[in-house]
Amino acid sequence: MITINDNYLKLQASYLFSDIARRVNTFKEQHPALASRVIRLGIGDVTLPLPPACIDAMHEAVDEMAKGSSFRGYGPEQGYDFLREAIATHDFEARGAAISPNEIFISDGSKCDTANIQELFAQDARIAIPDPVYPVYIDTNVMAGRTGVAHGGRYAHVTYLDCTRANGYVPALPEHPVDLIYLCFPNNPTGATITRTQLEAWVEYARRHRALILYDAAYVAFLRDSKLPQSIYEIDGARRVAIEFRSFSKTAGFTGTRCAYIVVPTECMGYDRAGNAYPLHSLWNRRHTTKFNGVSYPVQRAAAAVYSEAGQRQVRELSDYYLRNAALIRETVSALGYPCVGGENSPYIWVETGTDSWAFFDLMLQKAQVVITPGAGFGACGQGYIRISAFNDADKVREAMTRLQAALPKR
Ligand SMILES: *Cc1c(COP(=O)(O)O)cnc(C)c1O
Repeated sequence: MITINDNYLKLQASYLFSDIARRVNTFKEQHPALASRVIRLGIGDVTLPLPPACIDAMHEAVDEMAKGSSFRGYGPEQGYDFLREAIATHDFEARGAAISPNEIFISDGSKCDTANIQELFAQDARIAIPDPVYPVYIDTNVMAGRTGVAHGGRYAHVTYLDCTRANGYVPALPEHPVDLIYLCFPNNPTGATITRTQLEAWVEYARRHRALILYDAAYVAFLRDSKLPQSIYEIDGARRVAIEFRSFSKTAGFTGTRCAYIVVPTECMGYDRAGNAYPLHSLWNRRHTTKFNGVSYPVQRAAAAVYSEAGQRQVRELSDYYLRNAALIRETVSALGYPCVGGENSPYIWVETGTDSWAFFDLMLQKAQVVITPGAGFGACGQGYIRISAFNDADKVREAMTRLQAALPKR
């Protein structure tokens, strides 16, 4: 008899996006005349095409693959030097964060990286996860058997880090010790950012408890406030206690192309039961080279083109475009009297509705044919909130905001 991993039975079914789809379809069936009016501001996916610099580089790389003299088979599992060097220079050295190319591991996505990294840690590692949250952090820990079972929507062995209006959506340090801490800034779903001082407190906490921070910076390209940290390695001491995740998905429109990376500094340590320290870099290198065979050469060439002069200008145009949408969304909901966060250094706006998330979802669909994401789908603290995404065409966002002005009750 083949016995299953019964941790999978502890997963709470995620109905969020299927529920949204079902409600939208029902609405369209009941109101066929309005069906084509539906505008989606619920998605966490980019809509603009890849930057021309990336497309050119990818074409050239494909041509290289077509000739015997320049064909490439398996590449280094950790990624090609040309990409790792460009990343170290532009994303870290330029910010005063000392990260060397060999501390960077190229992968096919941060979703997989944030999930796979857990393999390095003990089964009984105590985890701290923000609420509301990108569901991947929670569900992958459930699969790994680290959470216990859920009661009333929360898992018994998870320390939830509540992100609320009272704390500015930046969680307070946990009251009892934890070992593995997930942080994501600029945040999905709230769009909140973390200051240098706040991040210093987390690094200090991790050092004191020999804990590890998993820092997801997937939305770094949207940071415009130059005082905010872009990388956790801008904080002194972070090299010992933090792993950072970055992705080309939101930065350069690679959601369908797939390229990301993880930074594991050589000083970053984990411990055995006796308290002996082991560099996580060696463990991750072993894991990555054993279980992963590298990102395709044309995709790595396309990613490296992000760091060319033209590429830098073009990716900036992409994030500027979405940020203009975000500014309009923020202005509109604020003028209607709804408190919100995000949208200034992030493509997401987290809006306090004052009513049930799903009721507000239905209201927006019925009255304005605008689809958003109910905050309750991201965790208990998301109840009473909605997430509006700026990833869409500017004219659609303008139209959606005109409709909201007409349809939403003023608060
Ligand atoms: C979109 C997103 C990512 C990126 O995931 P990829 O697998 O690299 O596309 C990572 N973290 C968060 C929180 C995200 O929203």
